Amino acid sequence: MSEYVRSLMEDVKAKNPSQPEFHQAVEEVVDSLDAVMERHPEYRAAKVLERIIEPERVIMFRVPWVDDEGEVQVNRGFRIEMNSAIGPYKGGLRFHPSVNLGILKFLAFEQVFKNSLTTLPMGGGKGGSDFDPKGKSDIEVMRFTQSFMGELFRHIGPNTDVPAGDIGVGGREIGFMFGQYKKLKNEFAGILTGKGLNWGGSLIRPEATGYGTVYFAAEMLATRQDSLEGKVCLVSGSGNVAQYTIEKVLELGGKVLTVSDSSGYIYDEEGINADKLAYIMELKNVKRGRIKEYADRYTNAVFTPLDATADNNPLWNHKADCAFPSATQNEINGKDAQNLLNNGIFVVSEGANMPTVIDGVNLFVDSKILYGPGKAANAGGVAVSGLEMAQNSMRYSWTREEVDNRLKMIMKDIHTTCITTADKYGAQGNYVLGANIGGFVKVADSMLDQGVV
Ligand code: NAP
Repeated sequence: MSEYVRSLMEDVKAKNPSQPEFHQAVEEVVDSLDAVMERHPEYRAAKVLERIIEPERVIMFRVPWVDDEGEVQVNRGFRIEMNSAIGPYKGGLRFHPSVNLGILKFLAFEQVFKNSLTTLPMGGGKGGSDFDPKGKSDIEVMRFTQSFMGELFRHIGPNTDVPAGDIGVGGREIGFMFGQYKKLKNEFAGILTGKGLNWGGSLIRPEATGYGTVYFAAEMLATRQDSLEGKVCLVSGSGNVAQYTIEKVLELGGKVLTVSDSSGYIYDEEGINADKLAYIMELKNVKRGRIKEYADRYTNAVFTPLDATADNNPLWNHKADCAFPSATQNEINGKDAQNLLNNGIFVVSEGANMPTVIDGVNLFVDSKILYGPGKAANAGGVAVSGLEMAQNSMRYSWTREEVDNRLKMIMKDIHTTCITTADKYGAQGNYVLGANIGGFVKVADSMLDQGVV
């Protein structure tokens, strides 16, 4: 770490106390940018990094609503408008009890580089609430989301800020929020992505993050003349990203042994086939049940409850070739990363955002496995959100095949950017460095062009 980066990190920590995830995300990026800052003194002179670290705007608001018992509940809502140098703010909304300012700032910061990598004109943002949709009725979810949009609508717009889904925000929540925006503004506009197909959504948007993460893994494997055919894979999570990751792995001939939720994980030695995946989709998207029920239905599978006091997650301690972390941040610690390597894993493609702690990232990079960091590997979701925005602007819809082909092309381009950038900076095969520099340069140059704003 250079003196410049060290002093920058000291400032970030002093100025943003109690935001460890934000510090982690910033450190991982700025640590890779040393060589760029050396080669481009103009970035340093214009304090581009110092400006990228500071959100353009942070909106925090009260979200009051009434539950089914008639009791008043109060949650906190946020929108972080991080950077608009290359386009309107774009990034998901997360509804989860763990949500706080630091977590959303880390996600918004990552989003700036990810969106830049997609080649589409999108700035970075993120938002959400500490509301927990688990166990709530549909009507409670509607009341909450309407109250949330009752404030958010002032700050978003097709040319300003276009949120999407993330953890706890899927088609149901996007629908309620879109309806409320339309009522308040008397305007039918593309202000959210992940919309229903009947009212401005794009084909392939639900599938995009998971499919994209697998396409990225396939691109990485192709650099070693290999493919996903016959590969044994570990997947975490059982939500949107995990489900479509499994679907694409199966389509490309791989085998998936694991899925999880926040209460534990399933190990299915026989593999999760298409029928079992359909069961998971029904369980999670319709019944909104717990993953444990999978082991009641398929009795050869084993459910292991999550042990929050353990120093490792046993999900990552099985023999396999590929890992697709698809649940949440910091779900792979240093020990998990070592376990993955000991078990023969040589491909890690991150569907989740920052699922690996910095020690784990360093282990993966040093061991020279094919390691695709989240901001590159899971960019397919926001890329198809960008395509949804383009279709909304044209008032036109592309076919499933057309969107999927564009998604594949974008994932290929992102992969090429990572590889060629890493080569250019003498770090062959280092996708972390390639993604961080590749994403940064476009935003930094745009900020230079636009003056000190
Ligand atoms: P989701 O549909 O809500 O699914 C999240 C899954 O992760 C659920 O199985 C959930 O379990 C599990 N999970 C959440 N928090 C957890 C925790 N603290 N510990 C253990 N498990 C936890 O969300 P998603 O859209 O699939 O998002 C998953 C990850 O992908 C997130 O990191 C998100 O930021 C990232 N991502 C999503 C998109 C997208 O388009 N959706 C795009 C890029 C990146 P429970 O059901 O028990 O909560």
